[in-house]
Amino acid sequence: MPGYSEGDVCDRDGCSGQIHIRPVEGCSCHISPPCSACTAPRNYCDTCDWEEEDEPAPVVKPQSQEEKDYWAGWWKEQDRLRNLPLDNTNVSWRDRLHSNCSMIKEGVYPQSGDAAADRAMVRKAVDGTFGGRFEYFGDGKFKFIAYTD
Ligand SMILES: [Zn+2]
Ligand SMILES: [Zn+2]
Repeated sequence: MPGYSEGDVCDRDGCSGQIHIRPVEGCSCHISPPCSACTAPRNYCDTCDWEEEDEPAPVVKPQSQEEKDYWAGWWKEQDRLRNLPLDNTNVSWRDRLHSNCSMIKEGVYPQSGDAAADRAMVRKAVDGTFGGRFEYFGDGKFKFIAYTD
């Protein structure tokens, strides 16, 4: 039996190499799990040139109902959260990935009342590890690019 997964002996035409798995590059599971980077074939033999990509494992385990339900529920929850109106009696925002090292924070802030926030207060709430900048700020709305890395 030729090997297909991490740690297996390759065993193709007597090859005694071992199957390894490449690290995931550009994972975007935080946006839509499981992402294509994580589900793409990444196994290879360290001795001959076998690539899982060229010869996928013959038996693909079907996704169990449990897994399907899990992801369906996860997506539903994400949808619900995305569509929830932001509460403008507080500084609140949604995060969106902007690049590997920045995050867009788009949200609302109260302009009047006890919780009224000004630019400095909003900035304090959304500032990234390495600062950031406002793309706009006004009329109770803001968009901030936070530098996180
Ligand atoms: Zn991923
Ligand atoms: Zn091999």
